[in-house]
Amino acid sequence: MEYTELGKTGFKVSKICFGALTIGPLQTNMSVADGAGIIRYALERGINFIDTAKLYETYPYIRKALKGWDKHVYISSKSYDYTWEGMKKSLEQARIALDRDYIDIFMLHEQESELTLKGHQPALDYLYEAKVKGLVKAIGVSTHTVEVVRVAAEREDIEVIHPIVNYQGLGILDGNITQLMTAVKRAHEQGKGLYGMKPLGGGNLITDVKTALNYAFQNPYLHSVALGCKSREELDYNICIMEGKEPPRELAQKVQAVPRKLHIEEWCIGCGACVKRCPNGFLELYEGKARLKNDKCILCGYCGSVCPEFAIKII
Ligand code: SF4
Ligand code: SF4
Repeated sequence: MEYTELGKTGFKVSKICFGALTIGPLQTNMSVADGAGIIRYALERGINFIDTAKLYETYPYIRKALKGWDKHVYISSKSYDYTWEGMKKSLEQARIALDRDYIDIFMLHEQESELTLKGHQPALDYLYEAKVKGLVKAIGVSTHTVEVVRVAAEREDIEVIHPIVNYQGLGILDGNITQLMTAVKRAHEQGKGLYGMKPLGGGNLITDVKTALNYAFQNPYLHSVALGCKSREELDYNICIMEGKEPPRELAQKVQAVPRKLHIEEWCIGCGACVKRCPNGFLELYEGKARLKNDKCILCGYCGSVCPEFAIKII
């Protein structure tokens, strides 16, 4: 495993960050024991960096996986809170649920624009106070936009940026991959810690998985890349690519044989909550039910988090 300094945070993180979203209720919904087993395997393979969020509901998996593990593991979490009190609650919830004195990185989740960032200032204010008290070590933002990377690059108070990065620019809300990389390069020059998300475009780039992973791993401005894995084989495959090795044929076949997709159950009541929630506008209502408008879904699972009927999920 390769390790890199995450900007100026002082954290030496693995090139692969374990993306916990995949194992949790918004995606494959594994049992805590199974999901924790995969995380533990990732730790044994040298991964020391885990990405999660309040929304993902994966704290129990991480807590179980870390039980008895004696090396330090960097945990990055995030929440949508925009108030001081809300962020305080979310950080406390994370510390208790993960059984940690402090969280290594806590971020504002899915920031859309400079304006959204301004609106979240009270939540950031709380995070600074928490940092002074040692409850959080670094503060960051996650985003699907070029604008937020640009703005965050110039702000001293934001130390880590978690942008969507894949070679086709899938899921970038306000530009293309060239524009995003210009902003990421600038953020890198400013000493920000940068770890990318969705290198496979949520599964859409699985047909050319090697190109997609190589783009992310060889990107000179990303210190780490968050990758969701739903099996040990997938993890082994990703590590092979990261290390520049040719994955064994049998392993490659196994990994590529299990694509993921968005599934909408027939009991969908057509409330439209998922349509409003999709940050990319990929959902619509048709004949009283939700459906995808196109084949560009990046399988982020955010739509599933608002469904009152548990009718939309990644399978
Ligand atoms: S449809 Fe759902 S999973 Fe697909 S991009 Fe939109 S929110 Fe994400
Ligand atoms: S949120 Fe759930 S019930 Fe409502 S339209 Fe979407 S899938 Fe259907």
